[in-house]
Amino acid sequence: MNRLTKHRKGLVIVVSAPSGAGKTTLVQELLKTDKNLIRSISVTTRSKRSDEVSGKDYCFVSELCFKRKILKNELLEWAKVHRDFYGTPKRFVEKHIKNGKDVILTIDVQGAKSIRKVYPDAILIFVIPPSFNELKKRLRKRCANTKEDIILRLKTAVTEYKNLTKYNYLVINDKIVDAVQKMQSIIIAERCRVLISLDPL
Ligand code: 5GP
Repeated sequence: MNRLTKHRKGLVIVVSAPSGAGKTTLVQELLKTDKNLIRSISVTTRSKRSDEVSGKDYCFVSELCFKRKILKNELLEWAKVHRDFYGTPKRFVEKHIKNGKDVILTIDVQGAKSIRKVYPDAILIFVIPPSFNELKKRLRKRCANTKEDIILRLKTAVTEYKNLTKYNYLVINDKIVDAVQKMQSIIIAERCRVLISLDPL
């Protein structure tokens, strides 16, 4: 099966960003207008924030449950990010790309690296805020984060920035509408990419 057949395989699109860069908002905006796009809902051991819905934002599970999923090979990739475990459900992604849906994974840089190994054609997009100061401001605004949490997330951000060159695209999230438009353009272009060699006419 290739992208020239009637039933094209879906794309795997990875979106990574330092915590607070706004990737969740951007992805939500993309999903509103692009009906062929579907977001993978990760499994996590992190506690649910007050504005989050279980099964919609994440599947919140215990550490024991998470470890069982690893043992049963139910996760496409998993990583410890900050203090908690996060993982991508394997069956969900496989099923949708087989059916031609483009699956978007909002995961960290470790996850992106693992996905690249499983899906070498995956499209890796890195989102950053216009400045590090802006990132600090956005994290402080998020009431769910404690002071220690903010410090930890900023430290992780420094490491994450170092991985920027492993991504295919960089999107600076200054104005949401502009960033969404850039991401839409990337996805449209990737859908048009020729992946197999064509016989000359
Ligand atoms: P948050 O707790 O702020 O929702 O997410 C923390 C970090 O975990 C973010 O960088 C987010 O992209 C990452 N993350 C969320 N789900 C997954 C996942 O399934 N796998 C990996 N590797 N990282 C994830």
